[in-house]
Amino acid sequence: MSYYWTSKTLKNQRRTQNRGLSLRLMVLALVLLAGFVVLGFSCRSSNSAGRSRLPDADSKPVATLRESAAEPEVFQPDNVFTWTIGNGDTLSAIFDRFELSRNAMYQILAADEALLALDVLRPGHILTFTLDEESRALSEMELFIHPGKRVIYHRVNDSGFEYEEIILPGVWDQELLQGEINGSFYLSAIAAGLTERETATITDLFKDQLNFSRDIRARDRFQVIRSRQFVEGEMTGQSRIEGVRIFCRNRLHSAFLFEDGNYYDHKGESLVRAFLRYPTQQRFRVSSPFNPARRHPITGRVSPHNGVDFAMPIGTPVLSTGDGVVTRVLNHPFAGRYIEIQHGGQYLTRYLHLHRPLVRRGQRVKRGERIALSGNTGRSTGPHLHFELHINGRPVNPLTAKIPMASSVPRDKLTLFNRRVGELVALMEPAEEQVARTASFEARSDSI
Ligand SMILES: [Zn+2]
Repeated sequence: MSYYWTSKTLKNQRRTQNRGLSLRLMVLALVLLAGFVVLGFSCRSSNSAGRSRLPDADSKPVATLRESAAEPEVFQPDNVFTWTIGNGDTLSAIFDRFELSRNAMYQILAADEALLALDVLRPGHILTFTLDEESRALSEMELFIHPGKRVIYHRVNDSGFEYEEIILPGVWDQELLQGEINGSFYLSAIAAGLTERETATITDLFKDQLNFSRDIRARDRFQVIRSRQFVEGEMTGQSRIEGVRIFCRNRLHSAFLFEDGNYYDHKGESLVRAFLRYPTQQRFRVSSPFNPARRHPITGRVSPHNGVDFAMPIGTPVLSTGDGVVTRVLNHPFAGRYIEIQHGGQYLTRYLHLHRPLVRRGQRVKRGERIALSGNTGRSTGPHLHFELHINGRPVNPLTAKIPMASSVPRDKLTLFNRRVGELVALMEPAEEQVARTASFEARSDSI
């Protein structure tokens, strides 16, 4: 429990109690307050740690959210601790602060090898530690990422933990954001209410057909359907761009997100360039297939294999399977040196146990570009490359998943796709304008 919540709870208590006019009630309130203060301090000291400053602005929404849920937890048992991640916090520093064993931390990191959720702790994420009441050993750790996503690491036996990922679908609320170009597209999009990240997603989608600094002029118009995720009324911070139209002088540029996680224009042509199926030039033997129910070859515990392993000699060039931006270049005690790449749309790839990365975080890479040399780092039974593909935040089998290999919506899905485009366009414009405008723009863009 953090000191911040305790003091906020006290303030609420004080406010409520002061509303009563009776002196007896006031006295009762003071007695209660004294009780809470004593309790609050004893919790703090028994935890041997507590954030002594208010959480920074970034973490406030989460703290507020948890505050209401956590209020009854003023009486939280002394074997449960909560910590809100602040800037610069590391897992090992947090474990030291709570005097938790390093051994337990490595066991949790071993369980997290398949997920790598603990590698990027962000301000506002919340860790909850539960100790065994008798042995006082760590029995469970929860990572709260946002109201729609938590990961729980449970102790299975003396030598290890397993993870459980709790993902709530929530509700996705669609909204139309639109504007005219005034200055750059970037500034106009931000002024219309889009975030930096969403704006980057849009410029990325059109990068093959539109030069945003040269082709876009003042008074050109844009429309964006964005959806944001809510879980039990709370915004999770997750958003998706579902449809975009940019009216650029006499041309219509459009992008619509389809059920396969790919973006297509209004005629069904893919905007995300095709992916490579394999992350290497040569084909190598699959030494361990994708298997969400696998038993780990070294520990024997159930440990999902969220990727596919290719046996290959150390130093084999590893290729990015699609265009994208490098989001992680990290070293993990079990995954070894690894790279993560976010591709346009809803795709993400990971490359583990590398000998040497050849790219840095934030770098743009092309499909087929050499990003690393394969290796045998981390916990590994021999030289190999572990390759993962995630679609919409879920790992899928990279050898069989539907990925943009072709350049347009498959013929048998065209009716479904056109219906989806119709729905999104209907949100963008009143019906009577829609027919005329789309028809005239289509006619013009067909002729170009
Ligand atoms: Zn593997």
